[in-house]
Amino acid sequence: MAAGRAAGAAFFLYINRGKLSDMKYQPVIGLEIHTALKTRTKMFCDSLNDPDEKRPNWNVCPICMGHPGTLPVINQEAVNKVILTGLALNCTIAHDTFFERKNYFYPDLPKGYQISQYQKPLCEHGVLGVGGKKFRITRIHLEEDAGRLQHDPSGDFSLVDYNRASVPLMELVTEPDFTSGDDVRAFAEEFQLILRYIGASDADMEKGLMRVEVNISLTNEDGSFGTPIEVKNINSISAAAASVDYEIIRQREVLESGGKISKETRGWDDVKRVTFSQRSKEEAQDYRYFPEPDLPPLHFESSDIEAIKSTLPELPEARRERFKTLYDLPSADINLFATDKSLGNYFEKVCAQLTSQNDSKLYKLASNYLITELQKHNIDLDETHVLPEQFADLVVRISKKEISSSAAQVVIEEMVKTGYSPEQIIKEKDLGQVSDTGAL
Ligand code: ADP
Ligand code: MG
Repeated sequence: MAAGRAAGAAFFLYINRGKLSDMKYQPVIGLEIHTALKTRTKMFCDSLNDPDEKRPNWNVCPICMGHPGTLPVINQEAVNKVILTGLALNCTIAHDTFFERKNYFYPDLPKGYQISQYQKPLCEHGVLGVGGKKFRITRIHLEEDAGRLQHDPSGDFSLVDYNRASVPLMELVTEPDFTSGDDVRAFAEEFQLILRYIGASDADMEKGLMRVEVNISLTNEDGSFGTPIEVKNINSISAAAASVDYEIIRQREVLESGGKISKETRGWDDVKRVTFSQRSKEEAQDYRYFPEPDLPPLHFESSDIEAIKSTLPELPEARRERFKTLYDLPSADINLFATDKSLGNYFEKVCAQLTSQNDSKLYKLASNYLITELQKHNIDLDETHVLPEQFADLVVRISKKEISSSAAQVVIEEMVKTGYSPEQIIKEKDLGQVSDTGAL
């Protein structure tokens, strides 16, 4: 009995130890994503919001430059786009909210404070499902962007361009629900796609319109969270994923060799593919937040939120599901049609012509030729003179073996060039093949 108990205890210890070492060094990752919204004008004035403006300090006015005596006015289009984003990500939308001042000094911030939201974000408690995983969204709030500093290589002076100052900026913060670079890539790609679908932002990371910051830690022995390291200056989604994978290995090595991870901001070196220390974050900066006295609080009735909700278009995941149900395509094709919306739209127009044929295999055939052939010619499907009807007609002829696959490629090339119908091209070039054995 006693021996049995001892063995039981040893067994229990063994299991527990296995569990404990499993808990050690598990990656814990959370994201902060800033997105410049696509609006006609800036957040609080009528200076243009044009990310492509080349002349420095062109789209500026006394309001976004923070001159004394000026008064900001809230850009309704920006507010609506944040709410729309929140609805797309299953958030709760605040009925009452307000802006706050975040005070700090930096040369790219002409007012000496940033108008932001702190206590009450516009959107909270969202969730985005990607590839079978669910990632919780803590909050999405609305603020204004800062200008851009350009440091002279001599180190003697810096230039500042305020075109971006006070452009509407949306900040999304997630819960620490990610465990790998792949998770981060999947989420960032889906979020970017959603922003483009709903027209909230072009979300181009290379242009700085979407900026992803990652927070990474490894769990302690007892499964509790470790100290997160923040990585900034990431200029692409693949760099975000790579920086996460790099940090997981680096932090594990530090901990295994008896070192400690302390709070720190690191940058990403895209050439060396490593993170590097930028500054240690010993104490939190005191931003002395207080409600923005120059702006009224915001109030939304349920009907206001419903009205915005009614403008939500079909989202990428719904589109994937619809394409799967209607056309039964492989997931690679479906993903391409979800990512490249105009290609997907064109495909649907072709399919609309094929339904009367009552042969579901035609959809896959159309998809194959569309993806390989039409894409090969790199044509703009919104403007091409290859009509979906003609493309569908060609697909039917291919399936009936009126023409061979290699002849079909020639026909497509001619269609792209001339806009003639498949029938005309086949006749003129004598591309038809005889499948009628009697005639043979
Ligand atoms: P801060 O105020 O320092 O920005 P937050 O609590 O607001 O910290 O969290 C910022 C981000 O860090 C969020 O994306 C969150 O998910 C993530 N995060 C929080 N704790 C951890 C942790 N232990 N490891 C990794 N990420 C974390
Ligand atoms: Mg933060």
